[in-house]
Amino acid sequence: MEEYRDRLPMSEATPVVTLREGGTPLIFSERLSERTGAEVWLKYEGTNPTGSFKDRGMSLAISKAVEEGARAVICASTGNTSASAAAYAAKAALTCGVIVPRGKTASGKLAQALVHGATVLQVDGSFDAALRICRSLHERYPVELVNSVNPYRIEGQKTGAFEVVDFLGRAPDVHVMPVGNAGNITAYWQGYQEEVAAGRIRRGPVMRGYQAAGAAPIVRGEVVAEPSTIATAIRIGHPASWQPALAAARDSGGSIRSVTDRQILQAYRRLAREGVFVEMASAASIAGLLDLSDAGELAKGARVVCVLTGHGLKEPDWAISGASQPPIIRDDTAVAAQMLGIEP
Ligand SMILES: *Cc1c(COP(=O)(O)O)cnc(C)c1O
Repeated sequence: MEEYRDRLPMSEATPVVTLREGGTPLIFSERLSERTGAEVWLKYEGTNPTGSFKDRGMSLAISKAVEEGARAVICASTGNTSASAAAYAAKAALTCGVIVPRGKTASGKLAQALVHGATVLQVDGSFDAALRICRSLHERYPVELVNSVNPYRIEGQKTGAFEVVDFLGRAPDVHVMPVGNAGNITAYWQGYQEEVAAGRIRRGPVMRGYQAAGAAPIVRGEVVAEPSTIATAIRIGHPASWQPALAAARDSGGSIRSVTDRQILQAYRRLAREGVFVEMASAASIAGLLDLSDAGELAKGARVVCVLTGHGLKEPDWAISGASQPPIIRDDTAVAAQMLGIEP
């Protein structure tokens, strides 16, 4: 946040609450480039302090909450927003309340919210119900709402686009990312547009957003009452930034489409086999990339950035359930060699 201070809504008086978010790697993928014929770069947001891109926006939202004298913050969350809010609230010594959909939050994310001292409530309903309660709390009580309806979240998250342009020295041709509540696609598009306005790039990339097929309200053009997908971070039926997301797709000549859970799971495994461990929602980026490629909609040599929104360690159950139990052996080198398939 300090690095891009002059491009963010911060004054001299703003106390920057930071855990050193951002500065995440842009990893070149030889295998996905070979598979698609494009030049594929992975913006790996899993290296943020709490393991997702949410930290970019949360740093600014919590900084502004402190500047404005707030003592408490609340958020609705599928998991990562609560993990991030809890950590940054702890850093700023604010109290933090979190409402999550019952039984739908990955264990790692819940652990984060709890260990940082947030008060966690589970609602019998979806993320959308949790957000309704939080909006209403914010209207009636003196608590700051730090969901992406808070404009500072979007402002902070746009720094991802700045980093991409700084690193590549130009805009990518295509930008692929998952879409849940649609704040992040809104933020990236805003960031790219600001780069255009500042004369650093001539135009922004074509924005390609991907929802999960069982939670694709923007694609279907109607609210999904009971969204369902293994990618819990994008399990959202009524996105808060619906219109800005549509505008980003339209104005960039891009699209918002959906990928199935099967495509997401395959992409998750494929990424892991090239050393990049992401959470299920992040794999929607790669499922989308492969879908574009298979449909012949990806130009040869196009420079593509795929945002990988969160770290795979947050939901280890997926990695473990897909593998067999490691066998147990005696203290015996020969047996170990045989079991590992190492030839003499
Ligand atoms: C929040 C989140 C998303 C979705 O981002 P939106 O801004 O809600 O569209 C995707 N992946 C992960 C890991 C997330 O935490």
